[in-house]
Amino acid sequence: MSTEFCARCGRVEADGDHTRCAVLLASIDPPRFCADCGRRMVVQVTPAGWVANCSRHGERTSTSPSVD
Ligand SMILES: [Zn+2]
Ligand SMILES: [Zn+2]
Repeated sequence: MSTEFCARCGRVEADGDHTRCAVLLASIDPPRFCADCGRRMVVQVTPAGWVANCSRHGERTSTSPSVD
């Protein structure tokens, strides 16, 4: 994985246990922090999923096509 920061809690991936974070992110929770810099992102939930904006890295979307 190239992720440095946990997208849910914003802490460094190597620091602590993020098992629960990963589970939540994989299910319904949009990310709250940028995985690249750990900044808090502006997150909008859309009918299709979510759109998250990092002031430094730009926009991320949940492009996952409805996996059941
Ligand atoms: Zn975490
Ligand atoms: Zn970022």
